[in-house]
Amino acid sequence: MRDEFTSKTKEILSKRAGARCSNPNCRKSTFAPHTDINKSINIGVAAHITAAEIGGPRYDPNMTSEERKSVENGIWLCQVDAKLIDSDEMRYTVEIIKEWRAISEKAALLDIECYTHLPTAETGEDKRIIRFFSQCFDRPAFQDEFVQEGSIEAFDRAIEDTITAINVGCLKDRNGNILFQCLGKSYLSNTDWREKMDSIVDMLRAIRSRYHLAIQLGQISIGGENKGKQYYVFHNYEVAKWFDETRAQIIYLFSAICKEAGIPKLVFPRKRKTSIYG
Ligand SMILES: [Zn+2]
Repeated sequence: MRDEFTSKTKEILSKRAGARCSNPNCRKSTFAPHTDINKSINIGVAAHITAAEIGGPRYDPNMTSEERKSVENGIWLCQVDAKLIDSDEMRYTVEIIKEWRAISEKAALLDIECYTHLPTAETGEDKRIIRFFSQCFDRPAFQDEFVQEGSIEAFDRAIEDTITAINVGCLKDRNGNILFQCLGKSYLSNTDWREKMDSIVDMLRAIRSRYHLAIQLGQISIGGENKGKQYYVFHNYEVAKWFDETRAQIIYLFSAICKEAGIPKLVFPRKRKTSIYG
């Protein structure tokens, strides 16, 4: 028998996540109005962290039925991410899912605590958010060109952390300590800047997908991690070029916002190395 959540538990889970998906890389809104004035649309799911029944993902036989259907064992996600966590339980462990929940609850709380700073006529708040994003891009993953072989800051995680920071307004170090805290991109009152940041997040996601694919296809070899740096070898020049061009586009797009905001713009690459593709 499945240990289903009660509607009360589902409601608590959705509200604790600020009614948004709890994957920090997503944070998609899950509620919206229905055409019927008396209804609303919900695209969110109260997902079980350890499965509701034997044989399901991360099932824990030592838990009682009560524990399995408790708030403690749930996470609010969009449908895509609810499917995702159940598709690979080796990758999406109990620890990782609980970390997602903790980050998203903090983000939801921060959204409320900062209500006095919510977008108003004052443009100072937008400027503060852009300055925060600028700090997030101030790292080797957005400064150093790829060469045929070399080492760079653990690339995939750096990109992932940056997406999270832009979405939820919180940048953490590898040990989970908060380095900078501000507001996510949805708080920008300048719609042009907000749309540009949406595009930048789409591009960052594309970088992650292409990076994973390139590893699978053997176009990049990745060595072990040492002090946050990772050794790499590119076997395909076109792929290396794509990563550099895409990062350059991101920094170019972001710099246009910086210029309008009157804060120092960024450049990619930080310094030109001997490039493999001339
Ligand atoms: Zn999601």
